[in-house]
Amino acid sequence: MRAVGLHADVVVAISRAFQTTCTLVRSGNEAFCVDSPVFPDELEILPAIAEQAGFPVVGVLATHADWDHLLGRYAFPEAPLGCAETTAAALISRPGAAQRELRAFDDELYVERPGPLSLPGAQSLPVPGHCGIGEAELELHPADGHTADGMAVWVPWACVLIAGDYLSPVEIPMLSDSGSAAAYLATLARLEPLVEQADHVVPGHGAPIDGTRAAAILREDRAYVQALLEHGEAAKLPLARRTGEQRRIHAANARRVT
Ligand SMILES: [Zn+2]
Repeated sequence: MRAVGLHADVVVAISRAFQTTCTLVRSGNEAFCVDSPVFPDELEILPAIAEQAGFPVVGVLATHADWDHLLGRYAFPEAPLGCAETTAAALISRPGAAQRELRAFDDELYVERPGPLSLPGAQSLPVPGHCGIGEAELELHPADGHTADGMAVWVPWACVLIAGDYLSPVEIPMLSDSGSAAAYLATLARLEPLVEQADHVVPGHGAPIDGTRAAAILREDRAYVQALLEHGEAAKLPLARRTGEQRRIHAANARRVT
């Protein structure tokens, strides 16, 4: 697992699985852990990374309800889980889904965990709205489209945008079962002014990028989703994201919009 410091108050760890990102954000003597790495050894070392950097983690946030972003409580079992109300509702309406999907991943890769994933009732955060941390506030923005739930987190004092599963340098826009192309485009439009102000953008998958690169990816993603709506399967994939796995995601997207 790689860890990079983006700002005195923002450290990002990037998992070996799916390049899933986990962002530690601090203000004063409170820190949050936003999303999570995937493998047990990565989750195990996370508290030491936080402690060494002087980030006392008091809460775990999830940008959305997909299982690979929900594992933070393995690292910080005492910390309450906070998420958008849409995400809390998604967790309630599909009880055990994250646990089942985690188990399928673990079975395939012969991964052993210290125990089952415990997800006690999540605390709903106001989205759009603010979330207090230390002496400051995080800005929470709705980010649906990839899934029906979710939020992006803007860290104003660091000019960092934690985007959830958008603006990835390694993954094309992905419409999951609950996703929507129209909502996806609306979320890109909502994120655009934040990307313009951002020093760094943390995508859900892939290493953090600077604002200029994120703006270019946003334009590519918008063009792709628009083409997907107009042409379905015939839509062209972004140039740098045309691997076999990305073509598989594209085929699933095309089935979803038609
Ligand atoms: Zn994801």
